[in-house]
Amino acid sequence: MAEIVCQNIKKNYGAVEVVPDFNLEVKDHEFIVFLGPSGCGKSTMLRMMAGLEDITGGELLIGGKIVNDLEPRDRGIAMVFQNYALYPHMTIRDNIAFGLRRIKVSEEEIKKRTADVTGVLGLEPYLDRKPTELSGGQQQRVAIARAMIKTPDVFLFDEPLSNLDAKLRATMREEIARLHKKLQTTTVYVTHDQMEAMTLADRIVLMKDGMIEQVGAPEEIYERPATFFVAGFIGTPAMNLIDMTVNQSNDGFQLTSKHVTLCVDPSRFEIKEGQKVTLGVRPSDLSSENKNADALSGKSDLIEYHGDQALVSFDVGELKIRALVPARHRPGEGADVSFYIREGSGHLFDKATGKSLLKG
Ligand code: ADP
Ligand code: MG
Repeated sequence: MAEIVCQNIKKNYGAVEVVPDFNLEVKDHEFIVFLGPSGCGKSTMLRMMAGLEDITGGELLIGGKIVNDLEPRDRGIAMVFQNYALYPHMTIRDNIAFGLRRIKVSEEEIKKRTADVTGVLGLEPYLDRKPTELSGGQQQRVAIARAMIKTPDVFLFDEPLSNLDAKLRATMREEIARLHKKLQTTTVYVTHDQMEAMTLADRIVLMKDGMIEQVGAPEEIYERPATFFVAGFIGTPAMNLIDMTVNQSNDGFQLTSKHVTLCVDPSRFEIKEGQKVTLGVRPSDLSSENKNADALSGKSDLIEYHGDQALVSFDVGELKIRALVPARHRPGEGADVSFYIREGSGHLFDKATGKSLLKG
């Protein structure tokens, strides 16, 4: 039993309100990722859960118990940081056992648990080495082992992979996913890296300025971004965002801007005449094929070759639009290009509120 409940959690640093009113229920066994730009309050939320930071207001429950005033060691949590800070003079074995020795767990128990966690993490060959004799990835694995050996009810990770190179990050990401499959420990994982969030999370909590923009499964967040901010934050390359106005046409609505007029499917969106909106289209949802639809046309001014795909930038008036195409079909630089929005793939946001206008 280790669900986490945040009820009206608030955090001020002096007069500065960093988290105004945070509400979330993390289910038992769930892997939750806090995702958002730097400074949006992810670490602050995590550190309040860990007991490393006072909670200004509201209630935090872990396993059904209010823990606001509990010491970190009494919360049943274990935390892994970006800076794993192993003790350099101790062997890996002693580093892993350190936390348990401090709370006087028997040597016999320590030996058994060490065998368990080092088995899971593949650390047996390194137990008698010192931290400097391990690679960055191996050291991070030791930091995870050190957290795991406490058999916590909840794992808290704060950007644990940020110090590793890209390839190692991908490998460790997989390891963390496997580990969670096996242990099923409730996890809250902080990152600013959307790839980590998309691949690890059962649900992503997307944050901005200490507030939750959207909570949902990765697919939900990607397919149905609830706000303009989420739409722009999730997806690489980033979504094209075009400011437009809704206009009545004979058979429904049109979206118009200075250089573009597009038909819009009124069954998909809650819109009205004269409304200012932002149209969002992912570069991968632009295609040069379906010639029945309205086109975004211009001159390609930059082609980024990615190997399997190419990113084509072109200007529509003063707008810069990007389309992702199969590399073998890429146009030349300076060519006239036309791209069509794949049916049902467009997103619309109210310009004033930033909220999605998608129905249902
Ligand atoms: P994130 O982890 O999402 O990058 P943080 O939770 O570290 O963001 O920070 C959220 C906000 O709180 C930032 O604006 C940061 O400057 C501020 N902040 C964090 N810690 C402190 C502190 N000890 N004193 C004052 N402000 C802080
Ligand atoms: Mg942080």
